[in-house]
Amino acid sequence: MLRLLDRLKDEIDGLDAQSLRRRRQIAETACAPEQTLTLAGATAPRTMLGFSSNDYLGLAAHPALAKALAEGAALYGTGSGGSHLILGHSRAHAQLEERLADWMSPFIPQARSLFFCTGYMANLAVLSALGGADAVIFSESLNHASLIDGARLAKARVERYPHCDVAALDAQLAACDAPVKLIVSDAVFSMDGNIAPVAELLALAERHDAWLVIDDAHGFGVLGATGRGVLQALSLRSERLVLVGTLGKAAGVSGAFVAAHRTVIDYLVQRARPYIFTTAAPPAVAHALLASLSLIEGEEGAERRARLRARIAQLRRGLKAVLPADGSAWLAESPTAIQPLIVGDNARAMRMMAQLDAHGLRVGAIRPPTVPAGTARLRIALSASHSEADVSRLLDALGEALAQPAKEAA
Ligand SMILES: *Cc1c(COP(=O)(O)O)cnc(C)c1O
Repeated sequence: MLRLLDRLKDEIDGLDAQSLRRRRQIAETACAPEQTLTLAGATAPRTMLGFSSNDYLGLAAHPALAKALAEGAALYGTGSGGSHLILGHSRAHAQLEERLADWMSPFIPQARSLFFCTGYMANLAVLSALGGADAVIFSESLNHASLIDGARLAKARVERYPHCDVAALDAQLAACDAPVKLIVSDAVFSMDGNIAPVAELLALAERHDAWLVIDDAHGFGVLGATGRGVLQALSLRSERLVLVGTLGKAAGVSGAFVAAHRTVIDYLVQRARPYIFTTAAPPAVAHALLASLSLIEGEEGAERRARLRARIAQLRRGLKAVLPADGSAWLAESPTAIQPLIVGDNARAMRMMAQLDAHGLRVGAIRPPTVPAGTARLRIALSASHSEADVSRLLDALGEALAQPAKEAA
């Protein structure tokens, strides 16, 4: 075999040997709590009750959105035909951007928005365009990979700051005399579910004349009275804010947007290469997203957010009752749909995942290096489409698994 292929294969074999090789499963049915999946290597599909999707409001398979997507395709066809600056920018894209700008205008003066194919690209665009050679990017240490990659693409110097450590960041900003400073943080941390101290970060941005870039991937649609996200939940307002929201999670479709002062958005259109040099998403996607925004801000969205909150409370109450007294497993302090149950070592996390699997339940086991050593966890993600009975089933199975000793007898 080609030597080059051998090198790749050796590396994959190495992952296999450490049980770190990642495998995909095939979803045979739409995204929903009960989903038929064909697992890697399996011959027959299984129907499982899942707790790992980002479909927090249960909109990913909503009939109204499927209908809107089909309607969008009938109106605009399937392909956009080009990049936004050439001819791919449709009326549906423009309407969506206007609507999102309206949504964000209470929090960002003179807000405009810019639609992207994915959140990954939106983050690359913001950080590479605003993080020029004269800038320093202050990056929260638990930031999402797309923000890390955006910082790599930027010409700016990058300084990490410790998780949620406002005092440390304050000192780092004070010691920096670069003309442009960008503070960059996830709003909701994806492996822990906690919310960043965004109000305190904004106060630092004002004090040190910096931008504050907030990635609200897990907050948009869910947080705030009408689902506008973390800025609404915390009642923040500033022209220093650059908000990235993703539209493939709670919004149930695909894509992302950046909302910021109109001059920032004008600048991104001129300078953000991940915006300029790619084909615009299908206009039908934007058309479906308009329907999604209506659901999110309407009565149905409010009901779904209330249902999600009820499931979060049920899970936390139920789990606290079955946590082992020896402290060998604990529940992270999370107010969001992401509820990590920290169980310590990798073997225990994998064992518990297998026990849940035997009950037809799927929960992701997250291990180092994704999380710090000794904090392997079951990452439970809840959705408004989970029923009370679904969460009870999970609680029963977790209670049983937690009742066993943390260390397997040798
Ligand atoms: C999912 C996610 C993204 C990427 O968004 P996509 O639209 O899936 O590309 C960016 N940031 C965070 C924090 C995310 O969780």
